Amino acid sequence: MGVYYVHYLIPLDNSFRPEPERIAALIDALAAARFIPRPEAGDGPTYFLDDWRREAAERTTSAAQEPPKPWWKRIFGSKAPERPPLLDLVDVERPFAVPLTEESFAALADRAVTVGWTIEDPLADGLAYPFEQRPSRDDPPNYRLLIEASEDFRTETINRYDDTGTVDPHCRCGADLSYSRAPFEDVAIRRLCPSCGARFEPRERLVTFTNGATGESQTIHGGICYRFAVAIDCEKSIPPAIEDGKEGKLSRRFLRVCSEALGVELHELGSYS
Ligand SMILES: [Zn+2]
Repeated sequence: MGVYYVHYLIPLDNSFRPEPERIAALIDALAAARFIPRPEAGDGPTYFLDDWRREAAERTTSAAQEPPKPWWKRIFGSKAPERPPLLDLVDVERPFAVPLTEESFAALADRAVTVGWTIEDPLADGLAYPFEQRPSRDDPPNYRLLIEASEDFRTETINRYDDTGTVDPHCRCGADLSYSRAPFEDVAIRRLCPSCGARFEPRERLVTFTNGATGESQTIHGGICYRFAVAIDCEKSIPPAIEDGKEGKLSRRFLRVCSEALGVELHELGSYS
């Protein structure tokens, strides 16, 4: 299977974004329950802010959008700004200190942040697998556990194979509230409409999609559209249940740890691409 799978756990109230202190409590709880390594284990998390990426991308596009120069300047080496090397775009991830430092708290309060732990072979490392079914020891899973928080909504198409399950990003007044998160063009939706001032309410949107595991058509309110999420980015290492044609479900223990630490009800949804 060439499926690329990401499993999202998002608040039932899509507009909920916890305070940094609450996210810190979630990180503690996930470490105590062995879903992420304890800080002293060495494999620390990293984080990035969308704005760093945007800034890097703007440097690239400003070079591309320079007004045309006279031909002789083009030939005789004008001092056009150079494109940043690719490393600049990739090197936006910083170590995320646990226990949390001032920098970690500032990151969690930023306009858009992603904190991630890379987990390879959780059972061998004494970690708990977040999904219901135990993975096979012969083919150990590897994934990224991500904590995402943002001011605007982040959104994802539920099924990219038939392009179903996309939240309509238009305001009631007709304005398109979507924009592209630099530099990888993930989609964000403005929380407030710049034309009429209305709040974007994903829960008012009915989203129909084809369930990638069962092939059934389903409808839910809000789709994958959130200001806060815990995501398991499985890439191609999909949960064993999906291999068997069933839905991937998080373990009750993982769900309980997250909802207790955050103090809200959550729901889970997978995205197939
Ligand atoms: Zn509007």
